[in-house]
Amino acid sequence: MKATRWNCFGAEEGEMKAVRTETRDLMEQATERAVRYLETLEARRVFPTVEAVSLLTELGGPFPAGGSEPTEVLRLLDEIGSPATVASAGPRYFGFVTGGALPATLAANWLAGAWDQCAGLDVLSPVSSALEEISARWLIELFGLPRECAVGFVTGATMANFTALAAARNAVLERAGWDVEADGLIGAPKITVIGGEEIHISAVKALGMLGLGRNRIVRVPADSQGRMRAELLPRIDGPTIVCMQAGNVNSGAFDPAKEICAVAHAGRAWVHVDAAFGLWAAAAPSRAHLVAGLSEADSWATDAHKWLNVPYDSGIAFVREDRHLKAAMSANAAYLVRGEKRDPNLFTPEMSRRARGAEIWAALRSLGRNELADLIERNCRMAARFAEGLKAGGFEILNEVVLNQVLVSFGEDAKTREVIAALQAEGTCWCGGTVWHGRAAMRIAVSSWATAEADVERSLESMIRAAA
Ligand SMILES: *Cc1c(COP(=O)(O)O)cnc(C)c1O
Repeated sequence: MKATRWNCFGAEEGEMKAVRTETRDLMEQATERAVRYLETLEARRVFPTVEAVSLLTELGGPFPAGGSEPTEVLRLLDEIGSPATVASAGPRYFGFVTGGALPATLAANWLAGAWDQCAGLDVLSPVSSALEEISARWLIELFGLPRECAVGFVTGATMANFTALAAARNAVLERAGWDVEADGLIGAPKITVIGGEEIHISAVKALGMLGLGRNRIVRVPADSQGRMRAELLPRIDGPTIVCMQAGNVNSGAFDPAKEICAVAHAGRAWVHVDAAFGLWAAAAPSRAHLVAGLSEADSWATDAHKWLNVPYDSGIAFVREDRHLKAAMSANAAYLVRGEKRDPNLFTPEMSRRARGAEIWAALRSLGRNELADLIERNCRMAARFAEGLKAGGFEILNEVVLNQVLVSFGEDAKTREVIAALQAEGTCWCGGTVWHGRAAMRIAVSSWATAEADVERSLESMIRAAA
């Protein structure tokens, strides 16, 4: 049967059965290929070979006039696409901060893919609304955030920053008597945005998209670990948003929340926290001290596709006062039925959106409080082991390893860069480079459920080999 007959409108009974059999066969093939991919993930080199990447052109060519059988499409995607993936879902990927995908979350992702729900409105998908509602409650409790928080499920921390900062923009201008959603920023009272010297580029990007200007951020100097120095906050006057971060993308360090919130709130400023991966420290008893005072802020952004280990893409925005988020994100049309229940689009920039609550719910439900704590603790212990092993090898650790991030120098900048290149070429594991206080460094981020102690030891050996 041809792909063009895939929908079964007007199909005879016999044809419908054929469609069903063909769907089953295709989905079973997809499962078989996906499972084989997962089973070979551990043994393969982490970054694809040059040949595998160059073969990707075979997926292109002229746009075909005729269709292809779905099984053939799947075969091409697997045989050409799979070898060109980065094994970031595997156990020895320590680049950026990526996490993996817990089995329950990947399975949930497949099932939710079959549902193909439009998760913008409760009336379009009650299950999507319910999964978000339940996950929101569990997450608020887990992070110790104010009970009344509104929660938006978005694509990542950049959009979570954008979403929460849109609520912040609404709030600080409302206090100045200005309705920014109705009247825009042109002619509005001036907003001062304060951020640390080490503010993440994603928050800067979000501020730019909100018309608050990438270059207008008043930068507060940071200490040796990259923490904002609260005592150097400027005097706050008029509509002001303070952007702090929990979990520096290089060092893992946390800005001092208590001090920043005290100063900012005394000046009636809004405090937003970029906590893309750092917020998950709240789930681990031994790291909970790092998030002390964080709940005093007004909004928070985090990622689920990093440390919660759900498939891409998934981020979460929390806003203490829901009316500011709803004012920023609401939209009205006569045909938009407003239910009694949660309408997800009131909390996010997107209207139509996928049921991303499914994977978050699956992660939380499958781990429970204890196993989630164990995941975070284990990754932090592994980061400490990397630091200890590299130090024992004679190399310099540039940060205080408080969480899951390790910065190491192998000597001169050129030498460090050579070691990173050699490590990446060998393929046992993958780490990226960065610059820390003007020095080249290799950055190790441990954030995957799949990483075992043996993977850490194998990777350490590879690092030391690359440095030799
Ligand atoms: C990863 C990260 C971001 C951006 O998150 P995305 O999910 O890539 O949008 C923002 N802030 C910090 C601190 C991060 O680590």
